Amino acid sequence: MKLERVELFLVRLPLKRAYETSGARETHMTRVLCRVESEGAVGWGESVAGEVPWYSGETPRTVLYALEEFILPELFKADLSAPQDVDEKLAWIREHRMAKATVEMAVWDLFAKRAGKPLSVLLGGTRDRILCGVAIGIQPSIEALMDTIRRELEGGYQRVKLKIKPGLEVEIAEATRRTFPDLAFMLDANSAYTLRDAPLFKRIDPTRPMMIEQPLAHDDLVDHAALQREIKTPICLDESIHSGEDARKAIAIGATRIVNIKAGRVGGLASAKRVHDVCAAHDVPVWCGGMLEMGIGRAHNVHLAALPNFRLPGDVSASARYFGTEIIAEPFTVDEDGTMRVPTKPGIGVTVLEDLIRKLALEHKELRPS
Ligand code: MG
Repeated sequence: MKLERVELFLVRLPLKRAYETSGARETHMTRVLCRVESEGAVGWGESVAGEVPWYSGETPRTVLYALEEFILPELFKADLSAPQDVDEKLAWIREHRMAKATVEMAVWDLFAKRAGKPLSVLLGGTRDRILCGVAIGIQPSIEALMDTIRRELEGGYQRVKLKIKPGLEVEIAEATRRTFPDLAFMLDANSAYTLRDAPLFKRIDPTRPMMIEQPLAHDDLVDHAALQREIKTPICLDESIHSGEDARKAIAIGATRIVNIKAGRVGGLASAKRVHDVCAAHDVPVWCGGMLEMGIGRAHNVHLAALPNFRLPGDVSASARYFGTEIIAEPFTVDEDGTMRVPTKPGIGVTVLEDLIRKLALEHKELRPS
């Protein structure tokens, strides 16, 4: 199969609520949407690069650049016999994982549609429902945070994840445990701390969070292993894991007991599956992270989270939380038991609102093999 035409759309949508982490306060999401076409079939992907390079070095502008300059020219040359071929063809291009994932995921959707199968089945998924949690950004006060947790729990979520930043971590953990004695909650630091902060995490241990996500530097494994030796709360790595090899090394030195998988962060679905498989082989549970995706990215996440080792509730939540404008027709909803149904139609299994995307696009590029 040869890619005949690729279109890239730059779309910016306001979030219903601003989202604050230790790294940034975000009010809008700008995403590169990718439409691939071959032999009458179409596939869609969505980049997760942020407007500013706080989570990773990639932004929508670098995604467009890498796709146009290196990634798409390489793929236009290729004859693809399976979606995994994309990952292989692009292996020589270093970094630019979110850019690679944007088109790689679109090609998976295209292959699944050609096969008439849901993407989850093509990936090896075994679940028809995924486990849902919700991520809550930093709130203006502890009271506001408790109110927000209460409101989100009414939505049925199985666990809440709370963003923390220096000066607020112990207070957030203690107030949450005091207010919700049985709540499954976890904390996400987005790399805001150093090993010198180990005493803070020891103080958090008695509040029994399910895990602490990426407490230390975004590129570190060694200090995380040292911290894990000092604290009881399991460490979960996010930013530090870019590949199956990273996961293997992190597990080997005891830097992580749980892994957050985001296909965009690791270069696409083939790589995400490798991370999943490495973790499964070491009995390390994984869950599906979120990057405040629009509908196409959300759909991809739901299919990925159908793989068997996604044993913990992830950050894939109901569509209604995020944007006033939707780019797919069917909203993702969470049932009372805190699960979400995996679409059963071919590919990502949702109706992409293509006319709307064309109307919303701030930029549109069309590329074909030369
Ligand atoms: Mg995280």
